[in-house]
Amino acid sequence: MLPFIRSDLAQFTAYKPHPSSDTGGSVPAQFDRLDTNESPYDLPAELKEKLAWTYQQVIETNRYPDGGHETLKDAIAEYVNESANLSPSLFTAGNISVGNGSDELIRSLLIATCLGGEGSILIANPTFSMYGILAQTLGIPVVAVARNETNFEIDLKAAQSAIEQTQNPSIRVVFVVHPNSPTANPLTAAELVWLRSLPEEILVVIDEAYFEFSQTTVVGELAQRPNWLILRTFSKAFRLAALRVGYCVAHPEAIAILEKVRLPYNLPSFSITAGLVALQYRTLLLKSVAQTLSERAKLIEAFSQDPRLQIAESAANFIYLRLKPNYFHPQDSVLKSLHQELRNSGTLVRQISGGLRITVGTTQENIRTLNRLQAALANVEF
Ligand SMILES: *Cc1c(COP(=O)(O)O)cnc(C)c1O
Repeated sequence: MLPFIRSDLAQFTAYKPHPSSDTGGSVPAQFDRLDTNESPYDLPAELKEKLAWTYQQVIETNRYPDGGHETLKDAIAEYVNESANLSPSLFTAGNISVGNGSDELIRSLLIATCLGGEGSILIANPTFSMYGILAQTLGIPVVAVARNETNFEIDLKAAQSAIEQTQNPSIRVVFVVHPNSPTANPLTAAELVWLRSLPEEILVVIDEAYFEFSQTTVVGELAQRPNWLILRTFSKAFRLAALRVGYCVAHPEAIAILEKVRLPYNLPSFSITAGLVALQYRTLLLKSVAQTLSERAKLIEAFSQDPRLQIAESAANFIYLRLKPNYFHPQDSVLKSLHQELRNSGTLVRQISGGLRITVGTTQENIRTLNRLQAALANVEF
């Protein structure tokens, strides 16, 4: 360990979602990459051409990007209002902040709320790993509660007592995902009642990364709740994961703070343009959501035929499956073998919290997933 490095960082390992490759993407394209919940569809060629044209004719690479993101924020606000059938003037640019992926916004939120011993965060595992990872790199304590093993609802009793009992520092931010990753369930009525009951000293972050698939959002409640904040991203349904564009919707005062802590040119000009083009062509791009949902239904139906698998309902573009209790093995040995067999046959999925999270891919990919999982199940020893 280098002697000038903060001692608490020694225990961390870098986040590595994929093995690396030299193909441009982070994994060789011959794999079915169903482990990071991206869209399986690249941008349509006509939009890529449009972007290429903009790059050649409009973007001056010697100039800094538009650091205020005003045009993009206007377009996002319009989409947010439309996406929840709200008044077209309810949210405006003043309610939006954009980040280099929503990951950057998560880090900015942590800096703005908890840094310097001022707060801890609360999460309910299993959930999106970046909240905990980013908090730890900033020295922010993470309090984790569990979820119901069947429907994956947050253990609300444990969550409430964590809020009441955590001290030095107390909990300042609660992170939830709607629908949750990896378990794919949207917030329940009871969870929402609990979130509404939290005092205004606690920021409630509702991460709607999968909103376009779930078509359920709490953005309409934001106007009454100054301590709520919604995160969204262009990395999933909008098919722009490579370009890193995320945003949040919140009270203008919260937005003003985020604008203070972010880096001045956090989004490259090309990414800003891509976000604008994606919104302009949203009807075209989001057509693929219906395809994904019908593929998801087929996959769930097929997986459900296997008596050994326990399939969670999904409101997102991925499926979470576990082995039924009779087939459970200590140390997840069967699961590990299934994960490895799938990988050997060319399908990457995520092994997480005693289950497999499988992204819904193209029709061809999903057929392969089914065949390969069946073959893997036939090969492993139960
Ligand atoms: C994929 C995902 C994101 C997106 O992160 P980006 O940095 O915008 O790519 C955010 N939150 C959750 C829960 C996700 O699954």
